[in-house]
Amino acid sequence: MFEKILIANRGEVALRIQRACRELGIKTVVVHSEADAEAKYVRLADESVCIGPPSSAQSYLNIPAIISAAEVTDAEAIHPGYGFLAENADFAERVEQSGFVFIGPRAETIRLMGDKVNAKNAMKKAGVPVVPGIDSALPEDPKEVSRVAREIGYPVIIKSVAGGGGRGMRIVHTEAALFIAVQMTRTEAQATFGNPAIYMEKFLENPRHIEFQVLADKHRNVVYLGDRDCSMQRRHQKVIEEAPAPLLSPRLRLRISERCAEACRKIGYAGAGTFEFLYEEGGFYFIEMNTRLQVEHPVTEMITGLDIVQLQIRIAAGEKLPIKQRDVALRGHAIECRINAEDPYKFTPSPGRITSLHMPGGPGIRVDTHAYTGYFVPPYYDSLLGKIIAYGDTREQAIARLGIAFSETVIEGIKTNIPLHQELLHDAAFLRGGTSIHYLEEKLAKMGREE
Ligand code: ADP
Repeated sequence: MFEKILIANRGEVALRIQRACRELGIKTVVVHSEADAEAKYVRLADESVCIGPPSSAQSYLNIPAIISAAEVTDAEAIHPGYGFLAENADFAERVEQSGFVFIGPRAETIRLMGDKVNAKNAMKKAGVPVVPGIDSALPEDPKEVSRVAREIGYPVIIKSVAGGGGRGMRIVHTEAALFIAVQMTRTEAQATFGNPAIYMEKFLENPRHIEFQVLADKHRNVVYLGDRDCSMQRRHQKVIEEAPAPLLSPRLRLRISERCAEACRKIGYAGAGTFEFLYEEGGFYFIEMNTRLQVEHPVTEMITGLDIVQLQIRIAAGEKLPIKQRDVALRGHAIECRINAEDPYKFTPSPGRITSLHMPGGPGIRVDTHAYTGYFVPPYYDSLLGKIIAYGDTREQAIARLGIAFSETVIEGIKTNIPLHQELLHDAAFLRGGTSIHYLEEKLAKMGREE
């Protein structure tokens, strides 16, 4: 096992990884920007290294600075968390070339899955059903583009081959709107992801987002840990996640899980990974694979009793998975609410000083946050402040516990999206379960609260 791990991330996930390391008896190094110097989790780490000014480009995305920090502190492995460099194949490669272990899959796997068209093709080959669409990047020729769109059938969605974070996607309903949309998405893809390649697939009108968690070691052992429903989204960003996905037939769940495990074996996957699907009218359609830890991993931890971050570390250290598929038992139901520092209805970020903070507790409640009274939420990064996760024997119990948790929670000095969560906990469609990915935006629009 490693003696020391460098955490190349910030906020709640930096703290989450630190906790896993502590339990494994591993020392931690946290790298941070000047804006995060005062954060409590930075002080809690065994060592910390300031790697640059507030802007992410000069700090959390600064590969040479992170590698140097690992060198000067004698860390053996680097955990990238999620976001930032977590799915950057060049980073994974540089880490390994510099003599450190990257806690995640091999660089070539990240590269394969980071190209969404390649990823879909690889999944198709492994027998995983994918969203109907083109199996290569879109050509330049406008005639070809409109032929492809007609063949897929409107509405179509144009997406960036190198995309992520729900950005740079465009839905097209008619041929008249096609060319402008293609051009705009291409330009945006270049600006956001440094790669102008785009692709097209069928836009599913009323799907749910259901994803499957897997773990694979370097000895070709794979286990699947069930599914999560992340359909409650705004602007393609998840707001509430739960496990298991409600109202899903056990047989279908098993079949897709097994296909995902099979795909892992086929591509020689090693690490934690998530297969994301859209689910519509009883059918599953693969959209992408995330080759990293997910924000919503705690709901799976709650229903399996496993620590995914510790298992990631043990896999990276070359250990065999300590569990077999038959040891994985899913029990109860867990729901996670993402707490963002933002206006609950206008969704504008709300950075600033937290003047008072009280987090909930009690049976079945887990809180993952780096925030505390007096913490200054910097304006430079994602607005995720933390997550409140509730576990129950049943979905109803988990929802009831979330309600109690929110009634106890106090965050003052900044705005958060807690009022929106409280409203959703009483929403009839949410209570039934199984709402589509468009549900939240439609609800906000009806309330006149979405611009
Ligand atoms: P990213 O990597 O940017 O998160 P994804 O491919 O995972 O992009 O898609 C993010 C979200 O966008 C999905 O959860 C879903 O809400 C929506 N989406 C993506 N593809 C489609 C599609 N073909 N039809 C309908 N919605 C889609």
